[in-house]
Amino acid sequence: MGDFIPVNVPVLNGNERKYLNECIDTGWISSEGPFVKRFEEAFAARVSRAHGVSVSSGTAALDVAVAALDIGVGDEVILPTLTIISCAAAVVRSGATPVLVDSDPRTWNMIPAHVEAKITPNTRAIMVVHLYGLPVDMDPILDIAARHNLAIIEDTAEVIGQTYRGRNCGSFGDISTFSFYPNKHVTTGEGGMLCTNDANLAERCRSFRDMCFLKSQRFFHEDLGWNFRFSNVHAALGLAQLERLDETVATKKRMGRRYTELLGDVPGIELPVPETDYAENIYWVYGLVIKDDVPFDAKEAMARLAKLGVGTRPFFWPMHEQPVFHDMDLFPGESYPSAERLARRGFYIPSGIALTDDEMDRVAVALKEVFA
Ligand SMILES: *Cc1c(COP(=O)(O)O)cnc(C)c1O
Repeated sequence: MGDFIPVNVPVLNGNERKYLNECIDTGWISSEGPFVKRFEEAFAARVSRAHGVSVSSGTAALDVAVAALDIGVGDEVILPTLTIISCAAAVVRSGATPVLVDSDPRTWNMIPAHVEAKITPNTRAIMVVHLYGLPVDMDPILDIAARHNLAIIEDTAEVIGQTYRGRNCGSFGDISTFSFYPNKHVTTGEGGMLCTNDANLAERCRSFRDMCFLKSQRFFHEDLGWNFRFSNVHAALGLAQLERLDETVATKKRMGRRYTELLGDVPGIELPVPETDYAENIYWVYGLVIKDDVPFDAKEAMARLAKLGVGTRPFFWPMHEQPVFHDMDLFPGESYPSAERLARRGFYIPSGIALTDDEMDRVAVALKEVFA
């Protein structure tokens, strides 16, 4: 057995060191430094948006997006049950009510027809979350939002660089959010971004990011914001990472295709869908779903793989099965069978761009052993 293969290792071999040295040499390390604006502008342009507002995490971006859209008590926001808690938490913290939809068993993304079925007179927004490498089918979502006059928050954390019918993911939301956590396609260690075409919304995002200081009178506040500012040091990393984005996405696609070849004859597992009529999979991570006739679940498979030196992570756990929300009397008795199955039978294998062909071969051998 060789060394343990982790799920992700960041690659920082572009201009990261050079730009970081610039921060140190110039003394610019706070959010006032010049890389922040450069990165915001370059990032927004890359996803076809007019404005970029950097924040301290993708989770912070979701909180700011909900606040900037003035969503709160009495409002409902529709989102997938299978996602990171940040999405539902932002809605709940605002005082609004999260309303859940199930996942497509093939693409693992939210189902547009289910979104329409959940609309009430109180619905204010749809929170779209592109998961694991394929985008949500946006045309029906855009159509539903237009017909019911709903805002769209587009969580693009996992698909930076992906397109939907040739248009950039992250260019569809009234506000789109991004994360720069180390397993994302652009990483700054910790960090996030909001993008929008609306100058007024961008200004509101900036204000909520920085505690809602009133421009005309500092230390005077008409609203409550946060300190979610993004530092020049992080932006230096981000700019260098962004320069490599196309390469990163190409590498991910190549790795996904290679895994698909290597794993095609492993019994008992469903592989990710390589493409739909609106997008090619870019395999943010390479997810596997254990077939129903296999007598063990993802937890067991992951434990067995760990013993063989292969790192894995489970899929998300659905929002309607979270104790914290049950304690708030949210989602009583609700069930979303597809998401529940994905949570129990889905997991992902090492997927970072530092992974070598040799390591991928070893992952495949381990999977064959576990599922033989
Ligand atoms: C990673 C991620 C986030 C949150 O990002 P952080 O920067 O870790 O706060 C939000 N949404 C989705 C879908 C993610 O995958």
